[in-house]
Amino acid sequence: MVSKVWPFVKESILEGYRMRFLARERATLERMLPGLDEALQDIPLSKLESDSSPGISLLRESGGAGLLIPAEYQGKGASALEAVQIQRAIGSRSPSLAVAATMHHFSVSSLVYMAAFGGQEWLLLEAIATKNMLLASGFAEGRPDGRILAPSMDVTVTSEGVRVSGYKRPCSLARSMDLLTVSMRLPAPDGTGDRLAVALIPASDPGVTVTPFWSSFVLAGAESDQVRIDDVLVPDSLVVLTEVTTDGELDDVQTAGFVWFELLMTASYLGAASAIVEQALASEKSSETARLKLVSNLGAAAAAVENIARQIPRSQSDMALLADTLLVRYAVQDAIAAVVPAAVELLGGLRFMSANDIGYLAAAVNGLGFHPPSRGRMAGPLTRHLAGDTLKIA
Ligand SMILES: Cc1cc2nc3c(=O)[nH]c(=O)nc-3n(C[C@H](O)[C@H](O)[C@H](O)COP(=O)(O)OP(=O)(O)OC[C@H]3O[C@@H](n4cnc5c(N)ncnc54)[C@H](O)[C@@H]3O)c2cc1C
Repeated sequence: MVSKVWPFVKESILEGYRMRFLARERATLERMLPGLDEALQDIPLSKLESDSSPGISLLRESGGAGLLIPAEYQGKGASALEAVQIQRAIGSRSPSLAVAATMHHFSVSSLVYMAAFGGQEWLLLEAIATKNMLLASGFAEGRPDGRILAPSMDVTVTSEGVRVSGYKRPCSLARSMDLLTVSMRLPAPDGTGDRLAVALIPASDPGVTVTPFWSSFVLAGAESDQVRIDDVLVPDSLVVLTEVTTDGELDDVQTAGFVWFELLMTASYLGAASAIVEQALASEKSSETARLKLVSNLGAAAAAVENIARQIPRSQSDMALLADTLLVRYAVQDAIAAVVPAAVELLGGLRFMSANDIGYLAAAVNGLGFHPPSRGRMAGPLTRHLAGDTLKIA
């Protein structure tokens, strides 16, 4: 019998390897979001990665919205370790879906963090979990010199709340979101400059419109389009004012948010790389030593990611953990950059030229380098941090 999704690999061979490689990750996915892995397996990669992908709907139907929400708020209460395994498993089926899911989960993780300090966020978490609502994250603004912590939204503070206008792009989940978090800057209460703030806006607000932005065929299934916000009034109760100034020094909530974001995004692309290695493992014409090298390099990268996950929630708002998380992310970028071309070479030219999937995955894994903060921006701040400075996000 021939595999439905990987038509050039005999199912019996692939099944043999599937028994161990990625088995733990897929078992965790099946336990937490039953049926999702099977549903994704039945859909060709080209469909899952297209701009008409059913992936995000399948994630919603399987209860993915509540994955990180504690059981006391009706969620599935996944730990960080379970979450990274799930992201890797999903990334191995659909890199686009893993990226989109990361944007939701990382936004939810900040709400969970704040709820733990007795805030009213639990009301929102319960609504997200019970109504399977998806939460997009609009930080980027598609400007060439844009810094993630220096948004340029037009903001007016009024007695009823904050009026916001501007663009967020790319914004994953743009066409499926129920709620949108939007970064902006607001005056500090003590009059000392301004601070980063995050507002929560319903996608159904008449001032919110979505237009195409993502023109690449790679990762098109993440729905990373442009969201326009036109004079939307956000009540004060839905605005979180942080302590973060433009110098890039983070507060506790933002530190934890960045740790979660980097961790889940890294695990997602590790999954995409794992999909190619999974096929290379099944290709018996290459040497066992070469195949083992692929798995050990990827396994070491996964172990580093899991090591960070095991320190959550205990140390999630520690600057030291964020520094380690960034170092792991950049090391995983390097591991992927070494492993993927080697796996593609082992699979051989006939396999590469017979279908788009290998070429597609080899392109998609590059996405990890494009998520903030980029290695180039962080080289200075991280080196200075290692020499004793406070860590700042450039
Ligand atoms: C699949 C995908 C989905 C996304 N979804 C979302 C989303 O839902 N929400 C969201 O907010 N954003 C999203 N983004 C956008 C992302 O967050 C980035 O904002 C965007 O990719 C930044 O573009 P850039 O790499 O050109 O920018 P830059 O950060 O400007 O980087 C460009 C290049 O310049 C280098 N560089 C820049 N500054 C410096 C410096 N000071 N020193 C040295 N080198 C420097 C960088 O290292 C990099 O090589 C998504 C991105 C991708 C790939």
